[in-house]
Amino acid sequence: MSTLDAVIVGSGPNGLSAGILLAQKGLSVQIIEAEDTIGGGTRTKELTEPGFLHDVCSAVHPTAVASPFLSKLELKKYGLEWVYPEVAAAHPFDSGNAILGYQDLEKTSEQFGKDSKFYKRLFSEFIDHWDALRHDLFGTLRSVQNPLLMASFGWYGWLSAKDLTSSLFKNPETKAFFAGMAAHSILPLEKLFSSSFGLVLTTSMHAVGWPIAKGGSAKITHAMAKYFESLGGSIEIGNRIKSFKELPNARAVLFDLTPHQIAKICDQTLPSDFRKKLENYEYGPGVFKMDFAVSEPIPWKNEECKKAGTVHLGGTFEELAHSEREIWKGNHPEKPYVLLSQPTLFDASRAPNGKHVVWAYCHVPNSSEKDCSEEIINQIERYAPGFRDTIIATHSMNAVQMNTYNENYVGGDINGGAQSFKQLIGRPVLKWDPYKLPHKGFYICSSSTPPGGGVHGMCGFHAAKSALKNEFGITL
Ligand SMILES: Cc1cc2nc3c(=O)[nH]c(=O)nc-3n(C[C@H](O)[C@H](O)[C@H](O)COP(=O)(O)OP(=O)(O)OC[C@H]3O[C@@H](n4cnc5c(N)ncnc54)[C@H](O)[C@@H]3O)c2cc1C
Repeated sequence: MSTLDAVIVGSGPNGLSAGILLAQKGLSVQIIEAEDTIGGGTRTKELTEPGFLHDVCSAVHPTAVASPFLSKLELKKYGLEWVYPEVAAAHPFDSGNAILGYQDLEKTSEQFGKDSKFYKRLFSEFIDHWDALRHDLFGTLRSVQNPLLMASFGWYGWLSAKDLTSSLFKNPETKAFFAGMAAHSILPLEKLFSSSFGLVLTTSMHAVGWPIAKGGSAKITHAMAKYFESLGGSIEIGNRIKSFKELPNARAVLFDLTPHQIAKICDQTLPSDFRKKLENYEYGPGVFKMDFAVSEPIPWKNEECKKAGTVHLGGTFEELAHSEREIWKGNHPEKPYVLLSQPTLFDASRAPNGKHVVWAYCHVPNSSEKDCSEEIINQIERYAPGFRDTIIATHSMNAVQMNTYNENYVGGDINGGAQSFKQLIGRPVLKWDPYKLPHKGFYICSSSTPPGGGVHGMCGFHAAKSALKNEFGITL
C-alpha cells in the first residue's frame, strides 16, 4: 500500500486550508469527507424551492477576507468573487431609526452623537494597524508579534461588552450597535472578554468590510478545493471515518473535527488522561437556523436597512443582554437576538427573477429541540411589518438537527466549542502547541483550536504548520 504524506479528515474551511498549505510544500495529501459534498460550514443548497440558493451555515465573510492565509490565496482564479454590500451591518430600533455600519469609520460614527469621538478613538488605532493586528488576532494566541498593539486591544478586549459600552458610551443606540457585534460571541454580554468579539468584528467591518460570496458561501470552499486539487491533492467524499484504523497510511493525520469526535475516533491511541480532557471539553449554546424564500425584499420600516448585508435584530443593549443571558441559563427567550442576512439584494443570481432568499438564526441552549420559527419571524416582523406575507417557503433546523447535519456542531454549537476565555487559549486543551495530539503524527485542525470559529482557515493553517515542522522538518 502506498503511503501518503498526509490525510485530513473533514473538508471544512480548516481542513482545506491545512490541505492547501501541505500540498503547497509538495506533499501528497488526501482529504476525506463524510458527506457527499465538501465544505462543512460553507455549503449552499436549494433548501426551500428550486432556484433559491440558501447558505446552510455561514453567509457573511469578514474573517475570510481578514484571514492572513485565505486572503493571500488566488481564489478568484478558481471562481470566488466577493460582493460588498454598501452597509455591512444594520441595527434597527422600534422607533424606526437604524444604525448603519459602513466600512467608512467617519460615516458610521456620525450616527452616534456625543459618542462619536469615543467610537472613533476606540477603533482608529486598530484600523490604522489592522495588517499587524490581524496577524496576532488570527495567530495561535501563544506568542504575539505586536505586543504593544495587542496590549491595547487586550485592554478593551478582556472587558465584558457591558462594561466596555457603559464606560465608553452614553447613547443607547451606540451601546446596542456594539452589543449586536459582541453577541456573535454567543457569550452573555456581562461575561469578561465578550467585548473582544465586538471589537474584532467592528474593526474588520471598517478595515476590510463584510462581504458575501457571489453565488453563495460554497464558492469559497469550491475555489479552495479546486486550488488544492491543482496542487496535486485529492478529495474523497461520502466516507465517514469512525475509527483511525480506517484511515489510509500517512505520516500525518489532521482531524478537522472537534474534541468529542476525536476522542471517539482515536480512542485508545490517545493517553487516557488526554482523552478525558477532550471528553470534558465544553461546547457552547446552539443555534436555531431558518431560511426563507420570499417574494420581495424584506419590507423594513427603515428603508436604509435594504443596503445592509447583515441585520442585527433584538433592539436595545438590555434586550440583547437579556436574550443571551437566558440562553446560558437554559431558557428560550421570547424575543431572541436574531442575525439575518439578505444576500439576494446584492447577488440576484441566487433566486428566481425578483424573488429573494433570507438567512436567519438565533441562539438557543445547547441540544435544544425547540422550534423557534415563530420567535424569528416575530422579530423580523417587529422591524419589517408585512414580512410574513412575503414568505413563499421556509426551511429550519433546530440545534439537534444542526448536529445531525454536521457532526462538528455538537449540540448545535457552531463554533467548535464555547468561546470563553479559558477555551480560547486552552482550545482544545492548554498546551504550547494546541494542534499536536499526543500520538505520533496526529493533529487537530478544526475551529476547536485557536483562533476559533469562523471561515478563515487559520486553525487549519497553524495545524499544518505544526505538522510540517514536526513530521517533515519543514519550518515556515
Ligand atoms: C448557522 C451557522 C452560521 C454561521 N455563520 C457564519 C458566518 O456568517 N461567517 C463565518 O465566518 N462563520 C460562520 N459560521 C461558522 C463557520 O461555518 C465555522 O466556524 C467553520 O465552518 C468551521 O470550519 P471547520 O473547517 O473547523 O469545520 P466545518 O466547517 O464544520 O467542517 C468539518 C467537516 O468535517 C466533516 N466531518 C465530520 N465528521 C467527519 C467524519 N467522521 N469523517 C469525515 N468527515 C467528517 C463534516 O462533514 C464537515 O464537512 C456559521 C456556522 C453556522 C452553523
